[in-house]
Amino acid sequence: YKTLRFIFGDQLNASHSWFKEKNQTQYLYVIAELKQETDYVKHHIQKVVAFFAAMENFAVALKQAHLNVLHLTLDDTQNDACITSLLTRLAKQYQCQQIQYQYPDEYRLQQQMRQFKSSSSLKISGCDSEHFLLPYADISNHFTKDKHVKMEFFYRMMRKRFNILMQDNAPQGGQWNFDQDNRNKLKKTDLAAIPEPKIFTNNIEGILQRIKKHHIITFGDCSATLLWPTSRAQAKQLLAYFCTYLLPCFGQFQDAMTCQSPHQWSLYHSRLAFALNTKMLHPMQVIKQVLAEFTARPEQINLAQVEGFIRQILGWREYVRGIYWQNMPDYATKNELGASRSLPDYFWHGKTKMNCMQQAITQSLETAYAHHIQRLMIIGNFCLLTGIAPDHVDNWYLGIYIDAIEWVEMPNTRGMSQFADGGLIATKPYAASGNYINKMSDYCKSCHYKVQQKTQVTACPFNRLYWQFMHSHQARLTHNPRIGMVYKNWQKQDPAQQQAILNRAQWCLDNIETL
Ligand code: FAD
Ligand code: SF4
Repeated sequence: YKTLRFIFGDQLNASHSWFKEKNQTQYLYVIAELKQETDYVKHHIQKVVAFFAAMENFAVALKQAHLNVLHLTLDDTQNDACITSLLTRLAKQYQCQQIQYQYPDEYRLQQQMRQFKSSSSLKISGCDSEHFLLPYADISNHFTKDKHVKMEFFYRMMRKRFNILMQDNAPQGGQWNFDQDNRNKLKKTDLAAIPEPKIFTNNIEGILQRIKKHHIITFGDCSATLLWPTSRAQAKQLLAYFCTYLLPCFGQFQDAMTCQSPHQWSLYHSRLAFALNTKMLHPMQVIKQVLAEFTARPEQINLAQVEGFIRQILGWREYVRGIYWQNMPDYATKNELGASRSLPDYFWHGKTKMNCMQQAITQSLETAYAHHIQRLMIIGNFCLLTGIAPDHVDNWYLGIYIDAIEWVEMPNTRGMSQFADGGLIATKPYAASGNYINKMSDYCKSCHYKVQQKTQVTACPFNRLYWQFMHSHQARLTHNPRIGMVYKNWQKQDPAQQQAILNRAQWCLDNIETL
């Protein structure tokens, strides 16, 4: 073959122009399971399995399209130390004069390929992955290193640029954002209506055997079949299911949490992030299908639901990618609040008396998934309030979630949830007491702790930790216009009560493993 074309595990984009070119006989496409990619962080077993299964299915699809494909398993690559040594070996073996790849989305891989290019005697070149809506070259026009960029303005620019939900140059429905119509709690009467999630039953026996045989260290649960979509066909089915059954209530219950439903782990969320982040689905394909559904069923789907969903894909997803690239590699070392604690053990088994944490962590261990508010306002909030080191938080999120790839995981975790970037993403820390959790969920009703209490032994740890967090970061946060009121409320409290709260909070920190 003249050219070896390497496909990373998250670049399963069948619509890429590579595959539309003529003269395909000159190309050898390589997809490879590699220890380098399983071991850079400890992963949830379902995440490793899902990536390997999706890669295998992609290789099969390319073969069916009569392309030359080399799909290598861990058995085949066990002696290859890394991607670049594998590529060097294969180029020699198949007598390829050049190597091509699509630009990776992670900084560490970008650096690795750049280094390879400069040190190898082979002709190596990269090209766009053709996935994101904002071209890579445009990122620096909208983001500045170390500067906060308002997501809302970025999102409006994207709405205009791609003409999504626009009418005569103005936002459809007369406003850009319908947040105030969304974000309801799930009432008892809403629970029975939560749709059953669409799950798949992918056979993963061979992959599980390989993971065991090659001593890949993983955590979390995995049954004999995998529920996540592992092919473009399944990803499309999940999208169709979302549009039909979940979209009508998506925005309304976007922030809701419950532990009273068999479908509590999925609710009205699309669970499309894995299919999107592996590029089995294109973001515009998702947006177009959601818009088509909205047009077809105006009596069942209102604008607030559709706008709420599109904001996530067209806004947040593209926005965090911009923040990531404009601020790497420094972003990975940011620790504005000087957090340094280790993760308590229950992050690995879920056994804690805090019901909200127990629910969110156990679900994550069982499914490799938690929805946004569980990630942000339960687990992330707890890490923020207790001062867990951002590196530990990042590694845990990067390992556990099925959709975790650094470009999207890190800005969300280190930035949005931990405020370690000092406000590049969020204008204030997403810190909350038990009140918020009680407002958005039914977790507190069956908790060992009492959400109304502040100082008693059984007081909700979030209540005490919240004030301790605010108190200890007062110098840094007191001038923040979005937080000023909080300090006014704190100052109104009786000094003895303040001290009692701080003492109980300190007890929580000293005994974090027992909470
Ligand atoms: P839905 O709730 O159905 O939302 C639809 C889609 O919108 C998602 O699939 C996703 O592509 C996009 N989206 C929504 N919110 C965001 C966001 N904040 N940033 C980027 N895209 C968004 N998302 C990841 O894809 N990978 C991660 O590793 C990841 N880590 C996160 C860590 C923390 C601490 C937080 C707070 C959020 C994280 N997110 C991450 C964002 C978001 O929580 C997930 O995209 C979402 O929960 C995935 O589930 P879903 O597909 O059902 O999403
Ligand atoms: Fe979580 Fe506190 Fe509510 Fe318990 S009482 S579920 S710890 S917020």
